Parts: sequence; structure tokens; C-alpha cells
Amino acid sequence: MANLVCTGCGSLCDDIQVQIEENRIVVVDNACAKGAAFLHALDNPKRRATCLVNREEVSAEQSIEEAKHLLSESKRPLIFGLDNSTLEAQAKAIRLAQKLGAVIDDASSFSYGGLISSLLKGSLPGCSLSQIKDRADLLMYWGSNPLHSHPRHLAKFSYYSYTEYDIAGWLPKVTLSCVEVRDTELSSICHPVFKLSPGGDKEFIQCVLSLIKGGGGTEEARTFCELFKKSQLSIIFCGRGLLYSLDGDFSLFSELVSRLGQWTRACVIPMIDELNMLGFNKLLREKTGYINQLSFAGGVLHGLEYSFLEQLRRGLPDCVLIVGSDPLTTLPPSLRRNLAKAKVICLSSLITPTTKAADVVIATAAPGLEHSGKVVRMDGEEVNLVKVREGTYISEEEILERLLGERA
Ligand code: SF4
Repeated sequence: MANLVCTGCGSLCDDIQVQIEENRIVVVDNACAKGAAFLHALDNPKRRATCLVNREEVSAEQSIEEAKHLLSESKRPLIFGLDNSTLEAQAKAIRLAQKLGAVIDDASSFSYGGLISSLLKGSLPGCSLSQIKDRADLLMYWGSNPLHSHPRHLAKFSYYSYTEYDIAGWLPKVTLSCVEVRDTELSSICHPVFKLSPGGDKEFIQCVLSLIKGGGGTEEARTFCELFKKSQLSIIFCGRGLLYSLDGDFSLFSELVSRLGQWTRACVIPMIDELNMLGFNKLLREKTGYINQLSFAGGVLHGLEYSFLEQLRRGLPDCVLIVGSDPLTTLPPSLRRNLAKAKVICLSSLITPTTKAADVVIATAAPGLEHSGKVVRMDGEEVNLVKVREGTYISEEEILERLLGERA
């Protein structure tokens, strides 16, 4: 059996065992159903991407040459994705964007960007997942249901990873709570549950803040404050429910976390789904000062107008290089139509709606299985992916090097 880091979600579980025979995965141990299905999909010829130009199968060299040609012809290129790429591939993509004078953006632009930016600037306190077990006494999932998004998160890093149990031996010695808009599998094991109306997060935060500042507050706000008053180390796991409800504005949430800090050490961990969104944001920030929404056309320009969605809405890019992402699954029809007006080059390990629509598809090796590299987990810890089998596919890093003209 070989050790593997699962790249099926942002948890990046590092205790997966796989048995490989004749270069195929025959046994997967420790992974959840989601991770096992992802790993098996990489061995399924019906799911694996092939190199295509105008939907005709071609060699990898031909697809890379065509991609190079399209990028060289482009007047307004855009590079998008990269949240499932290694740091090494992300660095090449940023170099390529600089060389082409392209716009570059990732999905943090319309998801975790605001939260990640606050964590990287230090205006929100973060914490390593490895510091939680048996130390944190309050775990709160806010707008997140890890049993669906990160199935082993509770078992590997939080509630069920605790070794100390109550006197009856039933429950871990930690308070598990959640803020949710509906009953979920998670809420059924949480106590207390703060059930909000959809979009009610801002109002709830304002209510808690008013109570902390000496004003009035609801019974729920009082219970919320009592929970944090009793805690020494509290972790708030922020999910997409919170992000979308706050519509990217984390100022009130940051104030709340800061105020809670008078009673407890309150830390925030974003429940990022992708395996290396944080890595991309850190890398781009180190190089440019910004985490996303950037244009290299005439220096370093940053702003909402350089977000992938806004660029598509305005129909600006004439060539879009999509790396390890499948935006066609989630884009609204109007933006899908605008994307179809540009030449689309897609680097992907698996067949997706985006590879089906792309002008050029370059099939890639799967990170962690067929090539090595580094990624940054949701809590900021760097994780080494070590390949466990040889493959016939080329890594994103090598493809991007070739597009840069740094490799023959
Ligand atoms: Fe893979 Fe995520 Fe499941 Fe862990 S929780 S095994 S990383 S899919």
C-alpha cells in the first residue's frame, strides 16, 4: 500500500492508503466516499480528459501548440482557475499572465476572497487545524455542513478527533455548535444550534454586537455570547452560507470576532473546498500585493473589473485559459454565452462541461496521484503532495512552462 494525500476536497486528508496494481488503483483505504469516488474516476477512461483541438483528439504536443498559438494571437487574454493546482503550477501561471499582459483571477474572487484577505492581512485571527484537537473547547461551523463538503473534517480535525470524552464516554469534551438556516445532519449533533432565516447572518451579528456593547439583544444573541464567555479557545469554521449571506463584506464579522476576543481566543478557519485556493491567493499577494482580480496589461492593475465574472459580463476576453477548474457548471447562462464567444483553452484531468465546450483541451496529470508538488490547506499549513504512480499525462506545471516557452 502507498500513502496518498487525497485531493478530493480542501481537507487534504494525508492518511489515505492506496494499492496500485498495473498502474491502476485497486484498493483505497481511509478515504470517504467522495474521495474514493474521485480517485477511482481518475482511473475511469470515460471520465479522464483527452487532448482535443476543436473536439478532435490530438497529441499533447499538438494541443499545447494550438494553445500557444491562440494565446499569442489574443489581444485580451484571461487566465482563470488554479485553485486545484500546485504552488509550482500557480507560479508558472502568474508568470505566463505577466508575459502575456493578461488578466488573472480565481474562484476566491466570488467566494472566500474577502475572508482570505482578512486572514492574510491579520485582521482576522487564524489557527492551524493541528492545534484544535483536545485544545479548543468550542467548535462552531457557520454556514457550513462539512458532512457534505468535507466529509472527514469532523473525524480528522475537529469533533470526532478528540481523545477526551465525557464521563459516560459518549461525547467528546468539546462544545459543538453551528449557525445554520436549515436542519442538517450536522445541526442534529450540535448544541446549541443558532437557526437563522436565509440571509439573516448580518442581522444576527448586529444583534450580538449590540448586546456586547451594552444594548439590548435577543435570547439567541445572549446564548451565543455565553458560549464564548465560557470558552478558552474557540474555532469558527466559516462556510459558503456565511460568505454568500454577507455578500463578501466581512467588516461586521471581523468586528464580532475581535469583540469575542475579549473573552476567548477566537480563531477563524475558512472551509475552502478547493485544494489550493489559499496557496494561489498567498502567492499572488506575495508577488503583487493583491490576492485576485488582477490585470498585467500595463503594470499591475487591480479591481472588481478584473474579476472573471465581470470580465465575462462585459464580454472582454478573447481567449480564456482555464486551469483545473470547471466554471461552466456554475456560470449563469448569460456569462456562459459570453465565454463561448472567446477561444477557450482548458487544462483538466477529468472530462467536465468546460472541457466539452473548450476549443482546446490539454489533459493533465492529477496532482498528488501522478505528480508531486506543494499546496496550502485551508488553515494555511503547507502540504506536500507526493506522486504514487507514473502516468502518461503531463503536469500543469510542465504545460504552463511550455506555454511560457521555458521548455521545449
Ligand atoms: Fe478526500 Fe476530502 Fe474525503 Fe478527506 S474528506 S478523504 S480530502 S474527499
